[in-house]
Amino acid sequence: MSIKALPENVWSKIAAGEVVERPASVVKELVENSLDAHAKRIKVKLFDGGRLRIIIEDDGIGISFEDLPLALMYHATSKISEVEDLENINTLGYRGEALASITAVADVEIRSKQENSENGGLIRAHDGKIIEHEKINHPKGTRIQVENLFFTLPARRKFLKTAQAELRKSAEFLREYAVCNPDVAFSLESDMREIFSTDGACDKKRVLQKFWEKGAEIQTVNISGGHLNLECWFQSRAGIQSGYNNIMAFVNGRTVDDPIIKSAIRQAARELNGNWALFFTIEASLVDVNIHPAKLEVRFRYPDEIYKAIHSAVKNLGSPMFIPEVSNFNPLPKISKKSNIKFSDTPRKNFVPQKNFTPEPQIYLEDLQVENNETEIIYMGQNSGGYLIYDDGEKIILIDPHAAHERINYEKIKSKAEKSENIQKLLTPLLLHPTLALEVHEYEHELKEAGFEFSNTDSGIELNSVPSIGVEFESLSLLRASLSALKNYHDADTKNILWRTWATMACKASVKLTTKISSEEAIILWKDLHKCEQPYVCPHGRPTMIEIKNSELQNKFGRE
Ligand code: ADP
Ligand code: MG
Repeated sequence: MSIKALPENVWSKIAAGEVVERPASVVKELVENSLDAHAKRIKVKLFDGGRLRIIIEDDGIGISFEDLPLALMYHATSKISEVEDLENINTLGYRGEALASITAVADVEIRSKQENSENGGLIRAHDGKIIEHEKINHPKGTRIQVENLFFTLPARRKFLKTAQAELRKSAEFLREYAVCNPDVAFSLESDMREIFSTDGACDKKRVLQKFWEKGAEIQTVNISGGHLNLECWFQSRAGIQSGYNNIMAFVNGRTVDDPIIKSAIRQAARELNGNWALFFTIEASLVDVNIHPAKLEVRFRYPDEIYKAIHSAVKNLGSPMFIPEVSNFNPLPKISKKSNIKFSDTPRKNFVPQKNFTPEPQIYLEDLQVENNETEIIYMGQNSGGYLIYDDGEKIILIDPHAAHERINYEKIKSKAEKSENIQKLLTPLLLHPTLALEVHEYEHELKEAGFEFSNTDSGIELNSVPSIGVEFESLSLLRASLSALKNYHDADTKNILWRTWATMACKASVKLTTKISSEEAIILWKDLHKCEQPYVCPHGRPTMIEIKNSELQNKFGRE
């Protein structure tokens, strides 16, 4: 087979596929052009979800009659002119290929007028060729009509989704632009019916309220640091499955669907459920928007700053990931009469166990004083479900050994962390793997402060001591977990982050409900648990024990 240069009508269609995939991509490109043209009013009208016709009208700066044919040509743009301009892109478009691509796969008509021109202009193209170009009367701004998308590519047309699915996708894009541009009045119509509109009154919160849950509070926080600024908006959505977040992200006014941002949000916000709108402002020269033709992905010069900013934002939003939600557990603690503890009357609702982090129980149990009663407790045994059964003469007490152990470990680690004499020398120093040594180097200061000690030897860095945290862990696991916490929670209070990380490890290492417990162990567990400040709940807010009074049993058995 010999090599031949492809004719324009073939390569233009191949190139078009990169930009125009479906009606929503046309809507996206045309709306971006209107925004670049400084429009304050943008109307989008779809017919049959855009599969039949797409019309976009704006009141922007318009295109001159002479420039109309150029607007339809590949690589013709008014937005950049030199290679250097690629380093500093401040417009949504710059590749000069959207209108050309659309023209290659659909019928296009543009009507436009610039403010100070005498006349407006009209241009029509069919099958990639201009068929009409004339002067007309037109108000200031641009109206673009796209019909019969992919009519020359029946295979492509066959793959268009239903009108409803296409409308949904276009609405999604348009919502994002509306949120990002509260100073622009957007409207979307489908088959002559209005789907939504915004007023362009420059009130971001009002636009978000339009698209988010009715009535629920919307919080906002601004983070500045390094080379970027992040404006973060959040609305909690109660009752939604844990970890489910609805996220809109924008970089310099460009809507993005970027893996770095997504993964940072996934990490930082994994315990938050809700609606997010994140607006990053980054110096244009530090972001490369050139890596994706549809421009949804960007490349950041300092990706770690994205992580840091998102973590700080989450923390500043009241750090719900550290504060357990109120659970539906109503503890029944024995409280000395002098204690002035206030219990919440309402059961804790929507409790979501913290999967990856042990929260500090911010609970109302804080100043609880438990009677430290060395009762004559009788251990009865472990039932088939794994619960430990005790009798104290007045009632039967059932203990969940896992929850109890979690509570005991948690308080040991917490109280150790509060004291400073917390170093445990290793009998034999451990030589660190070079990769681990590199990471240690980066966080050496924080690690030393926490009680890790290292020495430089001819063979590399050795670990000599670990923090003594009250619970036995394998030294390298402790180091690795601490490092990963330091990396993930850059801005947080190091001491606080570390002891919670260790407490989380301790929770994972706690005995399981299925573990067989001996009588001696059961008695020790009882005693250790009752020495805790808050013996009645595990660190995640679940009960460690429940009780059934003899009087209740009597009732149940029908005795007075
Ligand atoms: P790009 O946006 O990358 O420059 P396009 O093919 O999308 O490329 O548009 C080509 C040119 O047409 C733009 O550079 C701009 O000058 C002009 N143009 C397109 N749409 C509009 C509009 N709605 N208002 C004003 N000018 C427009
Ligand atoms: Mg464009």
